[in-house]
Parts: sequence; C-alpha cells; structure tokens
Amino acid sequence: MTHRIAVLPGDGIGPEITEQAVRVLNELGLALVIEQAPVGGAAYDLSGHPLPPETLALAQNSSAILFGAVGDWKYDKLPREHRPEQAILGLRKALGLFANLRPAILYPELANASSLKPEIVSGLDILILRELTGDIYFGQPRGVRIATDGPYKGEQEGFDTMRYAVPEIKRIAHLGFQSAMKRSRKLCSVDKANVLETSQLWRDTVIEVSKEYPDVALSHMYVDNAAMQLVRAPREFDVIVTGNLFGDILSDEAAMLTGSIGMLPSASLNASGQGLYEPSHGSAPDIAGKGVANPLATILSAAMMLRYSLNEPVAADRIEDAVRQVLSQGFRTADINESGMTKLSTAEMGDAVVAALNK
Ligand code: NAD
Repeated sequence: MTHRIAVLPGDGIGPEITEQAVRVLNELGLALVIEQAPVGGAAYDLSGHPLPPETLALAQNSSAILFGAVGDWKYDKLPREHRPEQAILGLRKALGLFANLRPAILYPELANASSLKPEIVSGLDILILRELTGDIYFGQPRGVRIATDGPYKGEQEGFDTMRYAVPEIKRIAHLGFQSAMKRSRKLCSVDKANVLETSQLWRDTVIEVSKEYPDVALSHMYVDNAAMQLVRAPREFDVIVTGNLFGDILSDEAAMLTGSIGMLPSASLNASGQGLYEPSHGSAPDIAGKGVANPLATILSAAMMLRYSLNEPVAADRIEDAVRQVLSQGFRTADINESGMTKLSTAEMGDAVVAALNK
C-alpha cells in the first residue's frame, strides 16, 4: 500500500530537522509518496498567507502530515491572522485534529539532562492527551472592547470565552480511556472544577464516560495541583487527559521533566486517524541554519506517524530502536551533549540513525 505524506518544513530549524526525518522514512523500504509545501512564515513570505490553499489541500489529501515548526520573532508584528502560528491552528481546525498526544519519556541514557533528581524522574513514561479544537483558544465571543460596566467602565478590556460542549469532552475522554487501557489503566483528568463552570461540566462528563471503562482507575486533579505534582512525583502519572489551555501548559512542563525538548515527538489526530506529526519544540530561531538542532524529536514524530496513521508498527519500532541505539552509542547533538559523548551535527545525527536502521 502506498502512503501519501505531506511534509511541511516551516520556519527556523523546521527545514533542517524534517530533512533528516524524510531521509529516515526513505530508508524503510515502504511505498511512500512524500510531497512538500511551504507553511508558516516561509509561506507568508512566498504568498502572503501562513497556510496557503495549496498547502492546506496537500495536507487534506494526505494520510499524514510531517510538520517541522513555524514562527520567528520577525513576524511578531504582523496582524494575528498572518502570523506563522495561525497555520497550526488552521490545520487543526480544517482537519478536525481534536486530540494531541504527547509522550514524555526519559531515556535512561539522558537521565542527567533532567533538572530533577534522577530518583524522581528515571523511568518516566507519561502520555498527555490534550483536547485541541475547543476551549478558550477558539471560544466566541472574544476581542478587545471598551468596558461598559464594572470598576473599569470606560477602559479598554480584553476578553475570551472558555467553552466546551459535552460531545467534545466525550470524544477526548474516550480516547483518554482507550489510551489508558493500552497502558497501565490509570487515567488522571485535569480541570479547574472548583472555579470554572466549563471544568465542572468537563468533570461530570468524564465521570459519565468512565462508566464504559470499569477497568480504568480514574482520578481527577485541579490544574494547579497537577502542575505541582508533575515536578514533585511525576511517575505517579500515566495518562493525563485535559483541555486545550491546561494541556498546552502541562504538556510543556512534562516535556521539560525529560530535560530535552529536542527529543519529544507529538501527534495530533482526527476521528478518522489522519494525523499531524511534529516535534514538541518550536522553530528555535536562535539556532536555525547552524546545523546544530536535534532532529530526533522529528524522527520520533515520523515513528508515531507510522504507528498511529499509517498502520506500520514494525517500521515505527525500527525507528525507535535505531534512536535508542544511537543514544547508547554515545551520539549526542549539542542540546543533550555531556562530557565523554560524541557531539554530532543535525545531519550527522540523521546519518547515525540511518546507519542504525540498516544494521
Ligand atoms: P523553541 O522550542 O523554538 O525554543 C526553545 C529553546 O529550545 C531554544 O533555546 C531552542 O534553541 C531550543 N530548541 C528547540 N528545539 C530544539 C532542537 N530540536 N534542538 C536543539 N535545541 C532546540 O521555543 P521558543 O524559542 O519559545 O519559540 C521560537 C519560535 O517557535 C516562536 O516563534 C514560537 O512562536 C514558535 N513555536 C512554534 C511551535 C510549533 O511550530 N509547533 C511551537 C512552539 C513555539
């Protein structure tokens, strides 16, 4: 079977890291049709829009999208609808990518990279499921207006709307329980039900859905406590399910427990299994073009793509094994380097993974 993959390299280090992931994909002996298109600031520079219609069409007609990263400070003054980040929001919305899966795994070889003590983080293996298409990021109304009442009457005020409908909560809750069933059958739902109406509805709905999964131990945690527990005792968690805003913050926090954002893949899925796969980090404009970026998060994102959208679990295992081999051989990019290890450039790390695949 031929798989169609859209590669959207984007900005900053995006082109360097996706290049290495594409090299790895091409080594697997699979029938792949890989097509590239500009996205983000690169697309804005070419056509005046961060998500041109041709790029969106390519994404829609592919089984999976491998996305680099978008954004650069030079676009920060553009109107919001032209900023590179709008491309991600647009793709999520157009493709109905409602679930973001972010594993945070601490490879034993990189235990020293974490800022937490090894005895607190070693063996960490968490999956954060973040709802992606609802919540305060998309709720209407939103805007900036002149306040018409209250203590700041007559002043300019900004406002956003937090909103979740029951079917949206159910959809992500089911995925949370199903993911927990495949792991250690523990699911923690994170909300702020003590303060927010939206969160109370979230909690009630997750409890309702839990009746269909009697084998999963469901717990609930307020988001402020979850943020603390993630640094106090992160291994207490297995699968966490949460909304868009809280998930945005907690998944970055979980990522940093592992010490290197350059190692962490992510997947965003829709109801039919089509997905967008990207590293958890951004476009790192500070190191772009220097050939020092770590391509492993993108290579591991390609492995997730093979597993979740293309139904090629053997190929996914091969990539993940190759990455483990490369780490145990002592190969490191600058961000994860330690004394006694062999420091590699972005392309050399790609070479090392390809060599490990072909062993
Ligand atoms: P960032 O993740 O790009 O960089 C944070 C730090 O981590 C930087 O010091 C960077 O050099 C380092 N880093 C990131 N990825 C790395 C890699 N693969 N190898 C080695 N080092 C790496 O976050 P930021 O600096 O806050 O944001 C930069 C730009 O990226 C902004 O324009 C932001 O909007 C954008 N951004 C995009 C995405 C995305 O495309 N999904 C996500 C987050 C941020």
